[in-house]
Amino acid sequence: MVHTPSRRYDVVAAARKFPSNGHTNSPEKRPTADEIFGEHTFSIEVMRQKLPKDVYNALIATIELGKPIDPKIADIVAVAMKDWAIEHGATHFTHWFQPLTGSTAEKHDSFITPNAGGGAIARFSGKELIQGEPDASSFPSGGIRATFEARGYTAWDVTSPAFIMKNPRGATLCIPTAFASWTGEALDHKIPLLRSMEAVSKAAVRALKIFDVHVTKVYSTVGAEQEYFLIDEDFAYNRPDLLLCGRTLFGAKPPRGQELEDHYFGSIPDRVLAYMTDVEEQLYRLGVPVKTRHNEVAPAQYEIAPIFENSNVAADHQQLIMQTLRSTARKYGMYCILHEKPFAGVNGSGKHTNWSLSTDTGMNLLEPGETPHDNMQFLFFCAAIIKAVDKHQDLLRLSVATAANDHRLGANEAPPAIMSIFLGEQLEKIFMQLEKGKVKKSDTKGLLGLGTPVLPPIPLHAGDRNRTSPFAFTGNKFEFRAVGSSQSISFPLVVLNTIAAEAIDELADEVEKHMRSRKSLEEALQVVLQNTIKQHKRIIFGGDGYSEEWKEEAKRRGLYIKNTSLEAFEAFHDKKNITLFSKYGVLNEREWFAREEVLLDQYFKTINIEGETTASIAQRSILPAATRYVRSLAETVTSLKAAGMQSKAVEQSLKEASALLDGFKDALSKLIAVNADEGGDAIQSKAKHMHSKVIPAMAKVREFADKLEKIIPDDLWPLPTYQEMLFVK
Ligand code: ADP
Ligand code: MG
Repeated sequence: MVHTPSRRYDVVAAARKFPSNGHTNSPEKRPTADEIFGEHTFSIEVMRQKLPKDVYNALIATIELGKPIDPKIADIVAVAMKDWAIEHGATHFTHWFQPLTGSTAEKHDSFITPNAGGGAIARFSGKELIQGEPDASSFPSGGIRATFEARGYTAWDVTSPAFIMKNPRGATLCIPTAFASWTGEALDHKIPLLRSMEAVSKAAVRALKIFDVHVTKVYSTVGAEQEYFLIDEDFAYNRPDLLLCGRTLFGAKPPRGQELEDHYFGSIPDRVLAYMTDVEEQLYRLGVPVKTRHNEVAPAQYEIAPIFENSNVAADHQQLIMQTLRSTARKYGMYCILHEKPFAGVNGSGKHTNWSLSTDTGMNLLEPGETPHDNMQFLFFCAAIIKAVDKHQDLLRLSVATAANDHRLGANEAPPAIMSIFLGEQLEKIFMQLEKGKVKKSDTKGLLGLGTPVLPPIPLHAGDRNRTSPFAFTGNKFEFRAVGSSQSISFPLVVLNTIAAEAIDELADEVEKHMRSRKSLEEALQVVLQNTIKQHKRIIFGGDGYSEEWKEEAKRRGLYIKNTSLEAFEAFHDKKNITLFSKYGVLNEREWFAREEVLLDQYFKTINIEGETTASIAQRSILPAATRYVRSLAETVTSLKAAGMQSKAVEQSLKEASALLDGFKDALSKLIAVNADEGGDAIQSKAKHMHSKVIPAMAKVREFADKLEKIIPDDLWPLPTYQEMLFVK
């Protein structure tokens, strides 16, 4: 019996694709960020140059103060935008929006319109700029459209700059838009995000008045650190699981994983560095301020992070980062994986979402103060966030609940599924002293403010940074670490902004109440902060979030513990949540439940596809390989016998392989059976079926497959291995 090699890829060729001889810098000088930044955006600067002064001023008022746009100026802006886009090679325009799928959508229209003379002219009207009507029927609406009007429309978001997306044969003008139903309900992620920004702005502007700070607007600011994997594309194209599900459904742990811890911050391989440089150049041109890049913990894992921007622009830019990471990999013969857990046994990917509040005058509200007065203001906002997170742990958990993130949260590496806040030693101490009302004036060296010393500068890179916390204070911002790497950051931001708005309002109410009964600001704050910490200190935790003790402790503290998405989705039905979002005008009840429906549907579909893909690979690739191996062993036994010989070793191998094959086939049959059953008609029961039947059946198939992988000859194994994918760069 001759082995038929199953491999359709060449490991050595993959490794040699990119000349890695140290002379890979292209000879021409690369453009600097300064030279190209924003080159492809219709930025404020471009608007200033291209628009008549009054039109420009009207537009800026819209952008900065959120005034409605005057349709009269739209035509003028449209013409300027079109001319600018055509100068940059654009032939088409699109309303670029963010449906509830979590990614972006676009439908391109040409600028070219036929004219009466049988020719064509380039046209783009104000109407086309402000509003579009994509065929929305194939975007998820969570039932909103089904009951009312089938169509949706897109509306220009003046506050996020339009940009030009280049492709190898041309370019498209992309106009960031909101996507709503004709009844005015949000069908996208942008509308609630803008509403939540408004809510938190209003609350913070009002609270700042207590501190005699008068501003017109407060922005929630965001910088999201994107983790991703990069592997050679030849491997990816030979892994149907990666192509269809974004993660590997099979794969034995290689002899070496991330044990050596030599990858994190290690030197970046040439091919990857060339890729990163390319990605960064494109993003600079799109006006996305990316700043840092480095290796991550797992082999073949990397990170890119931008400088923070306001939530809305940051969310749009985050989508551009993901899109550019994906599309550029191909140029370098690589494949970019954004999934939360592409490889079992090595770290998954997250998107640490750094969040703060900043006034339109540039004051960061979560920056510890340098004067007693700033100090009080900082403690006020910080306490509000503590309250918000404690009160709405369920919402934060919900905002990161996806089938993909289930592999990460609570899986002993990424942040645990239990929400808690890490404050750092110094800040925690200050709050604990405030609670006891014990800060002695003698300790303060004359610097008064709530009886605490002016906060010592809290080092941004303090040694006590806690990597295991899902929500950590990192010096001048909070970092929400549970967000998944492939997820849109919009919904988590909607939740953060809204719960912050509510807590700020509630604390402001209390402070004002005490001040009305003739307390000084300082006295009022003292009482309010003391009460807040008393009530909410259970959420503060500085220890090891991965440990078993913490799970026990969290239970004792009565924290919200939901290990899987399906359980986390229950929070959709809590009255407090429905009330909160409608009170702040962020999501009405129908919009809210629409999101539940879409999330459940995505959960169901994701696992359904994984189940089918597992069965297909098992049946069509792994079963044949295992059968071939068993046959070759059986044939060896027979030939030996014919020659009057016998080998215990071969017979033993045959027995082992054959037993594994039986177990594998049995598990596969069970998976095929549960795959055939959809689990009912209602989306809830379908999702439940996936959770309780399909996931365990997949796991069983994988268990046997991974054991088979360890004994089947290398040249018979049909799938690129973890070793190849993670270590060939
Ligand atoms: P760290 O070392 O704490 O991770 P970095 O300065 O590297 O700090 O920042 C990490 C991310 O946090 C970056 O994306 C950065 O833009 C973002 N960030 C910094 N300050 C703020 C802020 N005030 N609001 C929101 N994001 C911020
Ligand atoms: Mg970080």
